[in-house]
Amino acid sequence: MRAEIVVLPGDGVGPEVTRAATRVLAEVGAHHGHTFAIHPHLIGGAAIDACGEPLPADTLAACRRADAVLLGAVGGPQRANLQATVRPEQGLLALRKELGLYANLRPVKPHPAALDASPIKPHLLVGVDLLVVRELTGGIYFGDKQRSATAASDLCEYSVAEVERVIRRACKLARARRGKVVSVDKANVLETSRLWREVATRVHAEEFADVQLEHQLVDSMAMHLLARPREFDVIVTENMFGDILTDEAALLAGSLGLLPSASLGDGGVGLYEPIHGSAPDIAGRGIANPYAAILSVAMLLRHSLRLEDEAAAVEQAVSRALDAHVFTADLGGTLGTEAVTDAVLAQLQAEG
Ligand code: ATP
Ligand code: MG
Repeated sequence: MRAEIVVLPGDGVGPEVTRAATRVLAEVGAHHGHTFAIHPHLIGGAAIDACGEPLPADTLAACRRADAVLLGAVGGPQRANLQATVRPEQGLLALRKELGLYANLRPVKPHPAALDASPIKPHLLVGVDLLVVRELTGGIYFGDKQRSATAASDLCEYSVAEVERVIRRACKLARARRGKVVSVDKANVLETSRLWREVATRVHAEEFADVQLEHQLVDSMAMHLLARPREFDVIVTENMFGDILTDEAALLAGSLGLLPSASLGDGGVGLYEPIHGSAPDIAGRGIANPYAAILSVAMLLRHSLRLEDEAAAVEQAVSRALDAHVFTADLGGTLGTEAVTDAVLAQLQAEG
C-alpha cells in the first residue's frame, strides 16, 4: 500500500525520537512492500521560531490530507515567558481539536525485562495489560474560564453525544481485547459525571451486551490502579480524570520513555505520539529512549493503516530488544537513541 504520513518532530527530544520512529517506518515499508511517504512539518516551539505561530496553516492542511500523523513532542521551558496563545503546547491542543481527535488511547503493558524500572512491586506488575481511553475534546479543559480579583472558575461541560462516542470507542476496543470496560467518573458529586454514567450504562445496554461494564469513582480507581492493575482491561474516562490516571498508569511501565499513544476521531486521520514531553533536560544529547516513539509507529500501523501484522512485527522487535536488555539510561542502560534504534531494526530484519 501507499500511505502519506505527516511527521511533526517538534521540540526537545522530539526530533531525536521521531528520527528513530521514521527509520522503523521505512524498514517496515521496505520489508513488507509498502510505500510510506514522509512529509515533515513544523509544530510547537520549532514552528514559533520559524514563523511565529505554534500551528502553521500549512502544517494543519498537510495533517488533514494525511493518512496519519506522527508527532515527537512539543513544549520545553525556553519559551515559558510567552503569552498563553503562543505557547508551543497550544499547537498540539489546536491540532487535536481541529482534527476531531476525541479518544486518546494509552496502552500500558509492562515488559518483563523492565519491571525493575517501576516503583511498583514486580509481582503486582506481571501480566498487566491495560488500555486507558481518555476523552480529549471536552470537559473542564475547554469550558468557560472566569477570573475576578477574589475568585476563579472553570466550567466543566459534556454533551450526551461526546460521552456516547468515547464510550462506544472504548467498548469496541474492549471487544478486541478481554471484553472488560471500567468507566471512571465522580458521579457521587458531579453532574457531568452523573450524565457520563447514565450514558455509559445506556450505550452499553443497547449496543454492547457482550462487553462487561463496571463503574468506578475516580478516587477509588486511583488506588485500585496501583493495588490490582492486573485486573483492568479497558479504562475509559473524561478528559481531566484521564490526564491524571494515565500519568499514574505510566508508573506501572517503568519509564515514560516506553509508552506510546494514539489520538483518534471517527474515521479521518489519527495522531500518534509518545506520551512523554520534550524532555528538555536530556534534549540534544542522543540519549532519549526511542521505544515510546517506535511503539507509536506500531499503533499508527494498526489503527490508521490497518496493517495488524506489521504493527505486531514492530511490537515483537521492541519486545526482543528489551529482552536483550537493549536499554537507554532511563531503563538503567548505557545505550543511546541511535544504538537502541539500530537494535530494533536488526530485530525487524531478523524476523524475516
Ligand atoms: P514538557 O513540558 O515538554 O512535558 P517536561 O519537562 O515535563 O517537558 P517530560 O518530557 O514530561 O519533561 O519528561 C519528564 C522526565 O522524564 C524528564 O526528566 C525527562 O528527561 C524524562 N523523559 C521523558 N521522556 C524521556 C525519554 N524518551 N527518554 C528518557 N527520559 C525521558
Ligand atoms: Mg511533561
